Amino acid sequence: MVGKPEILPDVIVLLHGTISNNSDELEELDRILGDGDHVVNLLRGLAVLQAKADDLARTDWSGAFQVIGLSLMSSVGGASGSLYGTLFLKMSSVLKDNELTTRGMADAFNQGVDAMKARGKSDVGEKTMLDVLVPVAQCLTQLLDEGAERNVLLDAIASVALEGVESTRNMVATKGRAAYMGDRSVGHIDAGAKSSQVMLCALTDFLVDEA
Ligand code: ADP
Ligand code: MG
Repeated sequence: MVGKPEILPDVIVLLHGTISNNSDELEELDRILGDGDHVVNLLRGLAVLQAKADDLARTDWSGAFQVIGLSLMSSVGGASGSLYGTLFLKMSSVLKDNELTTRGMADAFNQGVDAMKARGKSDVGEKTMLDVLVPVAQCLTQLLDEGAERNVLLDAIASVALEGVESTRNMVATKGRAAYMGDRSVGHIDAGAKSSQVMLCALTDFLVDEA
């Protein structure tokens, strides 16, 4: 495993700021379809990670993702904590014995998203964060297969994430608290899908600037 996750402190600050900047919309969405705690949950988790950021930067990617996964599991609470925790723990185990490449990171992300599906007993089309994360994972693999260059890849992730969040608007929620709304969930986008999208778009902007 090569490369230290030196960008993590900056990325964690960025994601905390992104969720804060979008907090009114995200809170309202989770209030409509859920219990309104999604922003508080995410900010709690990101604050815990911020406190550990310098240590994370000194380990390797696999070690950092393990600490992130365990921290999110124990601090975030709610469905999103166990789902994001699962994503990072799976990525940690996939990256443990592999050399770090863009392809290796994309494979780890794909396997992480598959682990989230298993954990949530859910898939695309159920009006959740998976409606953003699954198409993004597929897009990553496809564009890497096609040999796409870095900025094309980052642009594609951002637009697939936006399409994914919009796709949740006309879905009937069948998982999580929103499932209690049944048909009344139609017409609203999902809070978890929206927060995944805003974090992914902030990350792709950051990575374009990094190049
Ligand atoms: P809680 O629903 O426990 O209050 P949060 O508000 O933090 O937790 O997160 C809610 C989000 O979690 C939803 O908007 C949805 O995107 C996602 N979610 C909930 N249940 C599932 C599931 N079974 N599979 C995938 N995503 C889910
Ligand atoms: Mg909630």
